[in-house]
Amino acid sequence: MSDYDYDLFVIGAGSGGTRAARVSAAHGARVAVAEEYRVGGTCVIRGCVPKKLLVYGAHFAEDLRDARHFGWDVPDDCNFHWPRLRDNVLREVDRINQAYTGTLQNAGVEIIHSRAVVTGPNTVRLDDGTEKTAETILVAVGAHPAVPECPGHEHGITSNEVFHLDAIPKRILIAGAGYIANEFAGVFHQFGAHVILMNRTREILRGYELAIRDRLLQISLMKGLEFRFDAAFQGIEKLEDGCLKVSMHGHEPVVVDMVLFATGRVPNTTGLGLESAGVELDEKGAVRVDEDNRSTCPSIYAVGDVTNRVQLTPVAIREGQAFADNKYGKGDCRVDYDCIPSAVFSHPPLAGVGMTEAEARQKLGSVKVYSSDFRPMKNVLAGRDERALYKMVCNAETDVVVGIHMIGPDVPEILQAAAVAVKAGLTKAQFDATVALHPTMAEELVLLK
Ligand SMILES: Cc1cc2nc3c(=O)[nH]c(=O)nc-3n(C[C@H](O)[C@H](O)[C@H](O)COP(=O)(O)OP(=O)(O)OC[C@H]3O[C@@H](n4cnc5c(N)ncnc54)[C@H](O)[C@@H]3O)c2cc1C
Repeated sequence: MSDYDYDLFVIGAGSGGTRAARVSAAHGARVAVAEEYRVGGTCVIRGCVPKKLLVYGAHFAEDLRDARHFGWDVPDDCNFHWPRLRDNVLREVDRINQAYTGTLQNAGVEIIHSRAVVTGPNTVRLDDGTEKTAETILVAVGAHPAVPECPGHEHGITSNEVFHLDAIPKRILIAGAGYIANEFAGVFHQFGAHVILMNRTREILRGYELAIRDRLLQISLMKGLEFRFDAAFQGIEKLEDGCLKVSMHGHEPVVVDMVLFATGRVPNTTGLGLESAGVELDEKGAVRVDEDNRSTCPSIYAVGDVTNRVQLTPVAIREGQAFADNKYGKGDCRVDYDCIPSAVFSHPPLAGVGMTEAEARQKLGSVKVYSSDFRPMKNVLAGRDERALYKMVCNAETDVVVGIHMIGPDVPEILQAAAVAVKAGLTKAQFDATVALHPTMAEELVLLK
């Protein structure tokens, strides 16, 4: 037994921190985790979970409209009651928060409800001034929403506040073009708000397949969402009637009821005291770590968004698991970052795994691309003019499928299964050898020409 208070002190009980704490304790380590807000972290409390529940809620707007074509009498005054959805979502968040807390406690992890800052290679200080010592410290503090520096930025909100709104605004300006911006654009549009998406460049969803993001842009425009490209904030002014006047370079000002910043996420390292232990940060403030999640201080490790590798929940969880298994279990566990699938829960959703066509052309040279551009049968009967697009990118030499990219109903669900085949390195011929499951949208994947 060491002289330290704990074998492991985890800072942050989010996706990465809870997994690392629980598994380390299961391996026999004496573990404490400090959490300054709520156990569960961003994903559970103000990220993936409540977001996806709002996406489900928003989808009913289209489903109810389409239902008429399927024979259902849906009254015209079919109203949406935001406070009911909000409160139900927040109740579900509370339930998962308690489940996470129970799991940690059952594993023997001590939960300390406090901010913790590093004061040396083996010490942390809590809010009440007490110092705790640990042989190893794991920094799993996540990230927070970036807010642009412009006059009046305090009038805007971020994803931290969006789940607690009193009412849905009539007009909302969403700044950013990443997945969070596009997801909330779809949600607010379905709830009846007029949505303006504003972005510094002309691109949305950088990193995703070009044809797929173009399709989302087309469908969004068709639905009435507005875009302001090449636009930078000049200022946000609160008018006497409470509305917000947003001035931007390159465009006329707009007046809206709410501004939502979805302009990226910044690692939570400010004021964390990491310099006291010689932990190096990169230019974005992320903790620099090696393949084993070890920082430049040998007793301090970091996992998840604070390392700014791939900011996704399943990645943070894998990093937490690998850290715990390496340190206290059988060792030699590393996260494989190749072929990580990801999705945007926009309306319609899109998803992708592996290389885009452009990446494959650059890396492989010789590439074959197959695609299917079709109107899902449900959309046809519903009179909904929205086409799905599936694209498969293959190595022309070997026939190996190196990327799949999709937009259309349910594609995140379909892509998760297809990602197994891409990860396994299957060929186009092996996809084609699989008999189609008819009638589905997913069958297009084995019928691509
Ligand atoms: C709106 C939104 C939607 C998202 N949707 C998805 C999605 O659909 N799919 C997906 O995979 N990912 C999604 N993400 C990203 C996902 O939430 C993160 O990648 C994931 O939560 C990262 O886990 P983490 O453990 O690194 O950090 P977090 O889960 O952020 O946990 C860090 C914890 O540390 C705590 N903390 C910070 N500083 C301290 C301190 N000094 N002392 C004590 N505690 C501290 C914080 O309060 C927090 O609870 C979304 C994020 C957002 C914001």
